[in-house]
This record gives sequence, C-alpha cells and structure tokens, in this order.
Amino acid sequence: PLVLGLETSCDETGVGIVRGGTLLADAVASSVDQHARFGGVVPEVASRAHLEAMVPTLRRACADAGVTLNDLDAIAVTSGPGLSGALMVGVAAAKALALALGKPLYGVNHLAAHVAVDILEHGPLPQPAVAMLVSGGHSSLLMVPDVTYDVQPLGRTIDDAAGEAFDKVARLLGLGFPGGPLVDKAAREGDPAAIRFPRGLSAAHDMRDHRFDFSFSGLKTAVARWVEQREANGEPVPINDVSASFQEAVVDVLTRKAVLACQENGAEHLLIGGGVAANSRLRAMAQERCDKAGIQLRVPRPKLCTDNGAMVAALGARMVQTGRTPSDLTLPADSSMPITLVQA
Ligand code: ATP
Ligand code: MG
Ligand code: FE
Repeated sequence: PLVLGLETSCDETGVGIVRGGTLLADAVASSVDQHARFGGVVPEVASRAHLEAMVPTLRRACADAGVTLNDLDAIAVTSGPGLSGALMVGVAAAKALALALGKPLYGVNHLAAHVAVDILEHGPLPQPAVAMLVSGGHSSLLMVPDVTYDVQPLGRTIDDAAGEAFDKVARLLGLGFPGGPLVDKAAREGDPAAIRFPRGLSAAHDMRDHRFDFSFSGLKTAVARWVEQREANGEPVPINDVSASFQEAVVDVLTRKAVLACQENGAEHLLIGGGVAANSRLRAMAQERCDKAGIQLRVPRPKLCTDNGAMVAALGARMVQTGRTPSDLTLPADSSMPITLVQA
C-alpha cells in the first residue's frame, strides 16, 4: 500500500511516503533554530511552525515520491505522545486529508513508529524483537512481539531520558542546543577514559530491583559537580574529555542492559531507535557487544532515528498490510499516550 505519514509531536514537521516497506519520500522541516535561544523547545512556537510548514512539506514529499494525494491508500499520523498543541496540527491535517480523499486514517504511537522505521532499512521486523528506544523524552527497553499492536515494556528510565541528559550536559558545557549531536562531535576529539563517571542503576542491588531500568540524572549531576570543581580551582574545563567520558557512561549502561535483555528474553535481534540511536559511539559499542553475544543488531541510518514522517508511514503501512482496523475521525491528540497503546 502507498501510505502517507505525518509527524508533528515536537519540533519536526515530518511528511513521509512509503510503498509497503519501501521509502519513497522523507521530507522534514524543523523549527529547531527558532527554539535554540530558549535552550529548549517552546510549545507555542513549535505549533505555529507546524502550521506554516505542513502544506509546503506535504507538497515536497509528494514531489519527491512522484505521487499525488489521490494515489494514496491510507493516511497515518502521530497521535501521541508529544506536545499537545503540536500534535493537534498533525492530527487535524491528517483528518482533513482522510476525509477529503476518502482514505482510511491510522493514528499511531510516536514511540512504536521509532521502532517500526527500521522496516524501511532492514526489512520486516523479527518476531519477537527486543527494542531499545532512546530519545529526547524516553529511554526504554521493550519486548516487541508485534509492533502493530503488542509492545511490552521491560524497563525504562526512572528519571531523565538519555537524550535529555545529552541536552543538559551540552548546555552546562556551553555547547548549544540540541545537545546530542554536539556532544557526539566534541567526544570524537576527547578521551572516553579521562573521567570515570557513574553508571546509573548498575550496582548489584540495582541489577536485581531495576534490571532493565535506567537512570541518568545522577550522571548529569556528577558531570555538573566535576565541572564546577574545575572552575572553582581556576582550571580550564576539558570539554572534549568531559563529553567523551559522559557519553561513554551513557552508552556503556545502555548497551550492557540491552544485550542482557536480549539474552534473558530469548531474542536474537536487538533494534535501537529514537534520536539518541544516531549517536556514533552508541552505534559502535552496540555493534561490538552484539557481535560478541551473537545478537543481530538493527539500527536505522541516523536521519531515520530522529523525528520524521517516514517512521509514521512505515508503521501505518504495516497496519494496513496486517489488516488492522483504521482509527475513526474522532481520533485524539494524546500528549501522554502510553507506549503500550500502539494505535489510538
Ligand atoms: P520522544 O521521541 O521521546 O518523543 P523527541 O521526539 O523529542 O522525543 P527524538 O527526535 O527522537 O526526540 O530525539 C531527539 C533527541 O536525540 C535529543 O535529545 C537529541 O539531543 C538526541 N540526539 C540526536 N542526535 C544525537 C546524537 N548524535 N548523539 C546523542 N544524542 C542525540
Ligand atoms: Mg527534534
Ligand atoms: Fe521522537
């Protein structure tokens, strides 16, 4: 099926078009520059930017794919979770298109879409798969028997998300916003063993009570204390070494627990999705540790890890293929949609 996917949960207006498991177009307009001076995404600004970008981005996607709206078989849209006003722009646009074109509408979960996007890269998902979702608002290990309706949490962060930790550390190092890619870049020039930062929820008792959970807020505080101490002593802060050592601590815990989750749940495949999956060190260490454990690693190219419409279209297409019932036109924008609810 030829499926359109709309994504407006945060600051990216994404319009993707897929034919089955094949990517035809992935147009993304970002309002990130408008938020940079505030150090974080401003919801009102994001909503307005989505309104302005929606039609031009839709036109661009159709042109890139060489299709017209009338060719579409279905419309998929991110129903949640995300910023309420931002989600509403995408949901309203999708309803209008579905109604005007007389095509079925699928309201899907943004987090499940971060997992499903790998279909476009590496083919149908293995069943079951363990997926690690690491993004700006979430960090979870998931058992995914079927991404179109059955996603079960194994564990999650008990405080900050991994991407949030990257963004906060970037801010305290004065690197800018969004921080993930900037820390990744600085870390390439630094020594990951320069400073031994804490590995959250990795002590023996935590591996019993919080085996597949994460915690990054203590790490962020440890980085802040270390930097303050340096400054108090009048010493320069080695930004590259701090970046590399912080990144190493995050990636070490993520990859160790992800591999363990596969081993203990009989999964031969590990999928990684979400914005932090674009991180170069995470990709390298995950590959190393999966190779050693005999696990097949699947991570999409970086552009498909961060927010985009293609991931929504990929999940929508899978729902059409497996005969899931479409959503109706009362479809809500659900800002706190739980990860276990794949379709609204
Ligand atoms: P969610 O998916 O939880 O709703 P979101 O949609 O805002 O949150 P994504 O777009 O999936 O988040 O990911 C954005 C996050 O990914 C940001 O925190 C950003 O710093 C982080 N990120 C992007 N690229 C990298 C990178 N190379 N290294 C580390 N983090 C990165
Ligand atoms: Mg973004
Ligand atoms: Fe996201």
